[in-house]
Amino acid sequence: MGDSPRRRSDYYTAWVSGMLFPLHERFKGHASVKVRKTMERSQWLSPEQIVQGQLDGLRQLLSHAQAHVPYYQKLFDSVGLAPNDMRSLQDLQGLPLLDKEKIRANLDTLRADNARNLTRFNTGGSSGEPLVFYIGKERVSHDIAAKWRATRWWGVDIGDPEIVIWGSPIELGAQDRLRSLRDYLLRSKLLPAFEMSGQKLEHFLATIRRLRPRMLFGYPSALSHIAQYADRKGVEMNDIGIQVAFVTSERLYDDQRRQIGATFGCSVANGYGSRDAGFIAHECPAGGMHITAEDIIVEIIDAEGRVLPHGEAGEIVVTHLASGDFPFIRYRTGDVGVLDDKRCACGRGLPLLREIQGRSTDFVVAQDGTIMHGLALIYILRDMPQIRAFKIVQETLDFTRILIVTASGLDQADASHIVAAFQSRLGKHVAVKIEEVSEIPAEKSGKFRYVVSKVTVPAEQ
Ligand SMILES: [Zn+2]
Repeated sequence: MGDSPRRRSDYYTAWVSGMLFPLHERFKGHASVKVRKTMERSQWLSPEQIVQGQLDGLRQLLSHAQAHVPYYQKLFDSVGLAPNDMRSLQDLQGLPLLDKEKIRANLDTLRADNARNLTRFNTGGSSGEPLVFYIGKERVSHDIAAKWRATRWWGVDIGDPEIVIWGSPIELGAQDRLRSLRDYLLRSKLLPAFEMSGQKLEHFLATIRRLRPRMLFGYPSALSHIAQYADRKGVEMNDIGIQVAFVTSERLYDDQRRQIGATFGCSVANGYGSRDAGFIAHECPAGGMHITAEDIIVEIIDAEGRVLPHGEAGEIVVTHLASGDFPFIRYRTGDVGVLDDKRCACGRGLPLLREIQGRSTDFVVAQDGTIMHGLALIYILRDMPQIRAFKIVQETLDFTRILIVTASGLDQADASHIVAAFQSRLGKHVAVKIEEVSEIPAEKSGKFRYVVSKVTVPAEQ
């Protein structure tokens, strides 16, 4: 890694980040450049100033919703609340929660009557039903800006070479020739994570080595899967100048973080968010998961929908302040997390989200009805070095299948140990079937899920 190639590359990045991408964004009618610059200042404001900004943004959003969004016109009338009644963020609690069911039932009346050029999204949803919703240009601009700001925390700018390992059908569906040209100019390469056979993994490693990206972006399960493969094959990947692996869309487990960081010789940054809820939080180099507080108000609620104090775990509910065209106000994410009162060592005033405990779909249900995180089962298998990969499928309350890949087979003692350990957590009459397989196929979304439960967990309704 000599000096001059890096420097030449920096000139190119500066040109893309400062000229080409801003032009592209202007052409698309996005304000992301301006929004990012504003956000790079506001991240250093005090927490009090940031809350004040959120309150102003909230009043604007609600006033706009009252003037233009039929669903909210009716709602404000029925709860007897006016946008100007918002004196503090706590007043938001006077409005009901929004969930996927309500969005499905009110898709048309949730659109602002003056909204133009909305983009329709359809989350595939590896679990549950798909959700259709709309996003306007204001929100697209803010979402782009939030992600852009966060990668710059790690020294990565738009225009730096990046490899995106992604399997979402939405993203791939949008791949057309123009988009390919754009990606080429932005030096962004998409590797579809649908299928990860040995041959594909060889190709991934070769592509990463050839393109020498400054950033990897993808699911933690997919990146750690690739990393494990590189290790097994003895392919060195830690010498190519990767700055950071940004992971998102799934819970990031500690051993995945270690694996990805060690194999690629880079930092690992966690991002939390989704197309529907927005880019809620990103990790900074000091380790804080900073909420994109200029755009998103986060509340934590209990099972009855009551707001919990900071420090207590509950469902994450978001209000997206840039979502006037199709408002997301008090939207239930189905994820579990904790708000933190601490200030981050980096000095940014953006509040912190701690312990994102994953989707309710990461949970399994014991025979007696106890809901437990899939980790309880995952740990049993992770502790066994002979197991290379696995997937747990809870078919019913009474029957769980475990797919296992081993290097040299599983002996009877191992198998009995696994069955006994699973029964001790799920219930002693649960049938546990171990199936040795040669590889674990990815989900349709391209993610590798360690635990899939087909038993309905009441938390997400
Ligand atoms: Zn920080």
